[in-house]
Amino acid sequence: MLEQTLQNNLSLIRHRIEKAAIQSGRLPETIKLVAVSKFHPIESIQVALKAGQRIFGENRVQEAKEKFSILREAWPDLKLHIIGTLQTNKVIDAVKIADTIETLDRPKLIDALNHAADKVGYLPDLLVQVNTGNEPQKSGISTKEADAFIDLCCQRFGSNIKGVMGIPPANEDPIPHFQFLSDLGKRHGLPEISMGMSADFEQAIASGATLVRVGSAIFGPRPISKPIS
Ligand SMILES: *Cc1c(COP(=O)(O)O)cnc(C)c1O
Repeated sequence: MLEQTLQNNLSLIRHRIEKAAIQSGRLPETIKLVAVSKFHPIESIQVALKAGQRIFGENRVQEAKEKFSILREAWPDLKLHIIGTLQTNKVIDAVKIADTIETLDRPKLIDALNHAADKVGYLPDLLVQVNTGNEPQKSGISTKEADAFIDLCCQRFGSNIKGVMGIPPANEDPIPHFQFLSDLGKRHGLPEISMGMSADFEQAIASGATLVRVGSAIFGPRPISKPIS
């Protein structure tokens, strides 16, 4: 994508975030933009970095490692969020490279993260992913199990648990899902609510999002498309 187009997209998204915040009586600086750069080349991420963007989201650990180990050298203050389903055999790598893992979604990952934290000597911030639509093909703890799972995660990881994350079902009104996530986070006293993507981040902000994950509206269509989970 052209440098100019990407810069324009980014400033448009920032402007829309600010506007959505003000319209719902929130301070714009309480909402952070996660620029989702999955499948996009390092060059595009560099353009975003030069335009002041610092938080990025990647789905796959291997791809994130390849791109961001290089980028971090030049941009030590960048933040990387892992937003894709985490396989247990990738947890150590994820812990090494991520500032935040947004996809703690099952009990098995608790043990794997504990083990990785011991080994690496560091634990990223963590968000609990909730499958708000209880969709069989989608990752995330079910709505029924969410409260108990969050309690368990907080017992194990304390203040590393920063909040909740979710992806509403496609072709459904996202607002009830956003509201559910927002209520859940508040109920547990967690500060971060990660929700809203290119198509619905303004609605997410109106429902209390503190992190919006925007990909295609910044970087353009993804070269290879893969269903999100
Ligand atoms: C790809 C992805 C996004 C960004 O989606 P866009 O529609 O391109 O903004 C957000 N969150 C997750 C979990 C994703 O996998």
